[in-house]
Amino acid sequence: GTPVDMLNPPEGCPFAPRCEYAMKICLQKMPPYVELGENHRAACWLRVQEQMAKEKSGQADAKAGSQTENKEAGDHE
Ligand code: SF4
Repeated sequence: GTPVDMLNPPEGCPFAPRCEYAMKICLQKMPPYVELGENHRAACWLRVQEQMAKEKSGQADAKAGSQTENKEAGDHE
């Protein structure tokens, strides 16, 4: 592919024209940074989606845990 013109950068991810995983949003908005570990972060919509899925899964786990705790608390009353 061709590197982007840094004097006239694209609106979305600069890799979008050359990325085989590019999605519609990649052409529209620059992805935010996602922390992947200590001193390791990435700006990619795929990582954003992964992070959102993890958070959603964590919330679902926390909710399930909370419901279990509530049930257990109710069992002891
Ligand atoms: S945000 Fe990620 S998936 Fe999208 S074009 Fe850039 S590198 Fe590819």
